[in-house]
Amino acid sequence: MEVDRTLEELKKHNLYRKLKTIERAEGVYVYINGKRFVNFSSNDYLSLAFDKRLAENHKKCLERWGSGSSAARLVTGNFTVHEELEKKLAKMKKTEAALLFTCGYMANLGILSSLLGNGDAIFSDELNHASLIDGCRLSKAKVFIYKHRDVDHLEELLKTNRSEFKTAAIVTDSIFSMDGDIAPLDKLLKLAEDYNTYLIVDDAHATGVIGNSSFDFFDIKPTEKTIIMGTLGKAIGTFGAFVASTSRMKEFFVNRARTFIFTTAIPPHIACMTIKNLQEIKSRMNKLQENIELLSKLTGIKSQTAIFPLIVGDSGRTLQLSEKLFEKGFIIPAIRPPTVPEGTARLRITVAAGHTAEDIKNLSDALKTLI
Ligand SMILES: *Cc1c(COP(=O)(O)O)cnc(C)c1O
Repeated sequence: MEVDRTLEELKKHNLYRKLKTIERAEGVYVYINGKRFVNFSSNDYLSLAFDKRLAENHKKCLERWGSGSSAARLVTGNFTVHEELEKKLAKMKKTEAALLFTCGYMANLGILSSLLGNGDAIFSDELNHASLIDGCRLSKAKVFIYKHRDVDHLEELLKTNRSEFKTAAIVTDSIFSMDGDIAPLDKLLKLAEDYNTYLIVDDAHATGVIGNSSFDFFDIKPTEKTIIMGTLGKAIGTFGAFVASTSRMKEFFVNRARTFIFTTAIPPHIACMTIKNLQEIKSRMNKLQENIELLSKLTGIKSQTAIFPLIVGDSGRTLQLSEKLFEKGFIIPAIRPPTVPEGTARLRITVAAGHTAEDIKNLSDALKTLI
């Protein structure tokens, strides 16, 4: 890779990325160079991550558990609090068991690369998250990509190809991270049953947003062959991820998922803080729902989830809009290829429980003047 040329090319095409440095965060407000901004781009959908009211709870966790985990789970990094959290997460997802991973990216790599290999097939939605895509690649299974949320296309691919492979899986985000739309899980589950495949569902943006689980949202139950990945760093407001499935699958991942085996366990105080934060979910979901409806109404962008894509198309123009919003006190980064497909650069607006009606109204007014 030619480093200098790559960076120049990126700049030329408005695809260069730069870090923003935040000095302080309080709820949905962040401070940069001493100035206060309203954050409309975080995934802290329930506004738990920077809530001072939870500090007492969290302090107790630190006092009890220290700062690190000291080793991988299979060595000496497995504490009672990890297992307590796993039980709660399994209950939340209505599965037999759950297994913590260090983060969602690692969880997806671990699930896909352990369960699927040479001679197997993965059927993957074209807009799946990068971590699922990388998991597919790492697995060495044959990957079939179906059109976004298109169950007819998926069925066609299954009909033509399924029988040539041993193990197979349908893989999808439940709520798509850059579009905020919802995968047709009921239909996908039916196809998984008809064609004897696993159904792997990434609930990163669903947990704590459309309920405890996307399966609940569709009023369907996880089966023996469903695997749900959930993250803790988004609506739950801490850090880490988990896989929820049968006890048998948990046993398999403990023994086979390399991103579980060969990495240091989540610090136990994080597991403890996560348990505390889980208690807050229910009381905040209504407020989030209210805010979703208000933002929908005021901006005209339709979404059932906390993610509102405002598709602009051109990367340069999207970047410009993002900068203008920044001048007006809003943080909404420009999402550009390769995060989204060519020609679909966008502002990805996310709303959280902590936004006031005034914050949402101000944003909507700012968008109207700019667009
Ligand atoms: C954020 C995200 C992940 C990765 O989770 P991390 O815990 O941040 O590593 C995986 N899948 C989707 C859909 C995501 O949005």
